[in-house]
Amino acid sequence: MSRIVYVNGDYLPEEDAKISVFDRGFLFADGVYEVTSVLDGKLIDFEGHAARLTRSLDELDMPHPISHEALLEVHRKLVADNGIVEGLVYLQITRGAPGDRDFAFPNPEETTPTVVLFTQNKPGLASNVNPVKVISIDDIRWGRRDIKTVQLLYPSMAKMAAKAAGCDDAWLVEDGKVTEGTSNNAYIVKNGKIITRELSTDILHGITRAAVLRFAAEAQMEVEERSFTIAEAQEADEAFFTSASAFVMPVVEIDGAKLNGGKPGPVAARLREIYLEESLKSAI
Ligand code: PMP
Repeated sequence: MSRIVYVNGDYLPEEDAKISVFDRGFLFADGVYEVTSVLDGKLIDFEGHAARLTRSLDELDMPHPISHEALLEVHRKLVADNGIVEGLVYLQITRGAPGDRDFAFPNPEETTPTVVLFTQNKPGLASNVNPVKVISIDDIRWGRRDIKTVQLLYPSMAKMAAKAAGCDDAWLVEDGKVTEGTSNNAYIVKNGKIITRELSTDILHGITRAAVLRFAAEAQMEVEERSFTIAEAQEADEAFFTSASAFVMPVVEIDGAKLNGGKPGPVAARLREIYLEESLKSAI
């Protein structure tokens, strides 16, 4: 069945939705995005995603084309119209289509941003746990990974390298330390302590990361925000990653080294349980 998608104020069947060939998202990857998960037909941490979107737009001097209330309304209408019970809402805002190709940003008075949203139906999103094997790969992305831009070619290439190696994902390594996964934040657990890289421009400030660290602290679990090497990760008791689309997902192998005998560990399982329970309580 065809989806109803949102493009610049209109709700359309996906086959009727159109974007200009001059759109700067298409020509320059000049755009930002957010992915919000849906459980029980409700949005998980919408406020966190909306706040990060605002920050991404501001960091790129992009106008805010849609109000917070209108954005929530579009999310909710797409979830309802597409009958999403478990799934995702993808949102993308680009600098728009100035009518020609030019490196310089267009005048924001003349070119309005393009706003696109669509849903992805994912039955079983909350119950599916697929323990992950990762490879490590050089992190050669640009230096503003804290801005959630649509420049995702290198993460896609890293994902393909992982698949070619018979694994599921890649952990990116810079100056000997893990930055993050291709589309998630990376963690290890040693002697009960949860270790994850501190926030900076080197990584995306995960909305799931913020929630998980808050819930971990509330559950009296010890958290240390610092970077770690692949060697340290291979010696860890367990590992996992977080993202809005996978919540908390166990990592059971890193560059061929099995963790916890190749089985998901208890800390990741507990955090996943707490995360799902707590975020459902505040879902809207
Ligand atoms: N890091 C990167 C590079 C990502 O692409 C993502 C997911 N978009 C994350 C971390 C996790 O962020 P969130 O928890 O907000 O989905």
